[in-house]
Amino acid sequence: MLWAILMFNHFSLIIFLLISITFSISSVATTFYPIDYEDSRKEFRKVAKRLSMTHPDLIYNFFKVPSRIDSDLTTDYIYIPAKKMTEKLLIITSGVHGVETFTSSAIQQMFLNEILPTVDLNKMGLLMIHSLNPYGFKYKRRVTENNVDLNRNFILERGPFKDPNDKYQTFRDFLNPPEKLSIGFFSKISHIVKTLFYSIRYGRPAFRQAILQGQYSYEKGIYFGGKVNEPQVSLLKHLLLTTAGPYKEVFAIDLHTGYGKRGTCHFFGLGKNVKSNTDIIEKVFKGYKIDGGQEGNFYTTTGDFPRFVEQILKNKKTVVMTFEYGTLDSQTTLGAIESLRRSSVENQGVQFGYDSKDDQNKSIKDFLDMFNPPDPKWREKVLTDSRKIFPNVIKNFLAY
Ligand SMILES: [Zn+2]
Repeated sequence: MLWAILMFNHFSLIIFLLISITFSISSVATTFYPIDYEDSRKEFRKVAKRLSMTHPDLIYNFFKVPSRIDSDLTTDYIYIPAKKMTEKLLIITSGVHGVETFTSSAIQQMFLNEILPTVDLNKMGLLMIHSLNPYGFKYKRRVTENNVDLNRNFILERGPFKDPNDKYQTFRDFLNPPEKLSIGFFSKISHIVKTLFYSIRYGRPAFRQAILQGQYSYEKGIYFGGKVNEPQVSLLKHLLLTTAGPYKEVFAIDLHTGYGKRGTCHFFGLGKNVKSNTDIIEKVFKGYKIDGGQEGNFYTTTGDFPRFVEQILKNKKTVVMTFEYGTLDSQTTLGAIESLRRSSVENQGVQFGYDSKDDQNKSIKDFLDMFNPPDPKWREKVLTDSRKIFPNVIKNFLAY
C-alpha cells in the first residue's frame, strides 16, 4: 500500500513538473503581451525606471493625447542618447494603429529586456515610442477617437485633406453600409460576391488603391484620414526633430500587425517614387525581402507615418521601415477579402449600431483576432522572429 502511495506521489510529481515546464515555456513566450492599454503602459514605465539605473542619462517622458471621453491617454517614450558620438539614432514606434499595439508593445518589451543590453550604444542612440494611438489601443479600434486612420493623417501640407478620392465614393456604401450590423452566413457570402464583382469590374489594383489610399471626405467611413491633423502629428514632429537633431543617420522602425502571411514579418519600404536611400536600405536589410512599399503591384497611401518621418528628417540619411506581422494571409485573395470584411464590419457596428449583442461580440472578436491573435504559437513566432531580425538589422545599420 505504502509502495503504491509512494509511486503515486512520484508519478504526480513528474506530471506536476511536466505541466509546470510546459506552462513556463509557453508563458515565457507570451509574457510580454499586455492584457490591455493600462497594463502595457505600466510595464513600459516600469522598464523605463529599471533601465534608468543602468543608463543614468535615460530620458523618460510622455505626452497627453487629448480626448473627449478619457483624460488619461498618453503616448510614452524613452530616449537613451548615444554614449560617445551622436552618429546614428534608432527609433522604434508602436501603435499608429491602436488595436495593433498588443503585439507591437510586446515586441518593444522584448527588445528593451533582451536585445538592448546587447546593443552597442557608443555611437547610436535609441528613441522608443509607446502607443501612438492610445485611444485605439484602449478601446480596441484601429483608428483614433475621431475615426481617423493615423497612418493616413501624417500630412504636412493641406492639399491631401481636400482630396475627395472620387474612386472611394464609388464603393462608399458597399464599404460602409449605413445600417445596423447583422452578421450571418448570407451577409458573409454577399460580401465576398460583391468584393469579387467590384474587383473584376474595376480591376483588382484599382479597387484596392481606391480603398486603401485613404479618403478625406467621409468621416464615418473606413480609411478616413481626417479633415485636419490629429494632435499626435505636431507632438511627434516636435519630439522627432528635437531628438534626432544631433544625429546624422536615422533608422526608424514602425511596428504593425494584420497585413501579410500569417506569422511572417514583412518589411515595407517607401518605394521608388519617394526620395529614399535605397543603397543603405539594401545594406541594412541584406538577406531580407522588402515587400512592395509604394510601387509595383502594391498600393500607395497618403499621410503615412514612414513618409512623414523621412520628410521631417530630410536633412539626414534615413532608413524608414514598416514591420508588418501577418495574421490572416491577406496576401491571398480570400485573405484580402476577409480582412476587408472584418474592417468594414467593425466600423459599421461602431458607426451604426448592432442588430444584436451576438453580432457585436462576433464583430469585436473577429477584429481582435485579425490584429491581436490570441494563438500562443503565433505570438511566440512573432517574438522568436523579432529576436533574430532586430539584432541583425541593427548590426548592419551600425556597420555600413
Ligand atoms: Zn497597422
